Amino acid sequence: MGSCLEQDVWERKYHLALERMERDEREFHALGEGLRRLALRLAGLARGRDAELDRLLDRLAAELRHVPSLGALEPLLEALAKAITTSDDHSPAGGDPDAASIDGLRADIARLQELLAAVSLRLGDMTRYLAVELERTGVGDREGRALDASVREEMRALGETTLAAADLGSLQAEVAARLSLIDRHFREYREREDARLAAYRDRAERMRDRVEELENQATSLQDSLRREHELALTDGLTSLPNRLAYERRMAEVEREVRERGAAACLGAFDIDHFKGINDTYGHGAGDAVLRIVGQTLARELEGRAFVARYGGEEFVVVFAGMGTDEAWELSLALCATVEKLAFHASSKPVTVTMSGGITRFGIDDTSAVAFDRADRALYAAKRAGRNRCVLL
Ligand code: GH3
Ligand code: MG
Ligand code: MG
Repeated sequence: MGSCLEQDVWERKYHLALERMERDEREFHALGEGLRRLALRLAGLARGRDAELDRLLDRLAAELRHVPSLGALEPLLEALAKAITTSDDHSPAGGDPDAASIDGLRADIARLQELLAAVSLRLGDMTRYLAVELERTGVGDREGRALDASVREEMRALGETTLAAADLGSLQAEVAARLSLIDRHFREYREREDARLAAYRDRAERMRDRVEELENQATSLQDSLRREHELALTDGLTSLPNRLAYERRMAEVEREVRERGAAACLGAFDIDHFKGINDTYGHGAGDAVLRIVGQTLARELEGRAFVARYGGEEFVVVFAGMGTDEAWELSLALCATVEKLAFHASSKPVTVTMSGGITRFGIDDTSAVAFDRADRALYAAKRAGRNRCVLL
């Protein structure tokens, strides 16, 4: 589909370029025709001065009767120039009335050559520039078409001037004026194109800046989203995962147990007589105890089990991939570690203890059912005197 369209565009470009070249050729031909007629007239004027010169002028006339090739014309023009010089040399010194007109003829030929060279140079420039523009801007460029039209108009006028020119001097002046007009059209066109390109570059630059800015915004939004996400899953007081994070972890464990028959245990832990700590030492002291106990649990379990603050002074531990024996031993160790924490209030040591309820996560369990069993085990531990664990 894409390549079909591309081929279509290239075909149109090709045809357009072909048409332009054909028109260029026609106009150039008209210009050449004018110059040819002028040269024929000049050859007629120069006749009858010298036999060799006449012979060369005959050849020139014969050459000019059809469209002359540059290869044939060049040596002929050179021979003509030489013959004119020789005929000058043979003329009696100081007084041949024809010497001045022969000089004029020779100068005319030289100017004619110059003129031809200038016209073909400009045409070459123009053809090259148009080819590049056609390639760059594609078919249907408005500016390009306007330039093309004005150049064509100048070329047409140039052709007419050539046919109508009375003498070489006025032809040269007309051609020079037309060429400078063509130059001006080109310059104006290039200036407009340059301005357009600069505006386009400027716009592209601003768009690139805007895209960069948006990319930066997107990155910082992503960062803040990630931070928000982390915050949403973190308990502010203890920096432990919160209840939502616990629920997500439990959903994973539930799948692992169901789909792979993995082992898992769940522990619910609660600080004993925490209300008394608040009441005796103040809420700030209670917060400090929560923070320290929470961080102690995290440190003890790091890389072995997942711990979260469930709420208040209650923590949950997910022993994923662990049987009851291992979970039980770890739970006992946790309670022992908390008991050994050296708290002080008003320079007096304060002992903090914790109770735990442990349960195995069965294949038919949901996380709610398993939690309910762990909670019952916890209260059994409380009833049994606290600072201990119960397995249910
Ligand atoms: P038990 O041994 O039966 O667990 O007794 P307890 O006093 O620990 O339990 P209770 O449920 O009676 O008291 C829990 C207290 O914990 C009540 C509540 O004010 C306090 N508490 C809950 N969250 C916070 C908290 O974030 N900071 C502080 N300082 N206290 C809290
Ligand atoms: Mg408690
Ligand atoms: Mg409690």
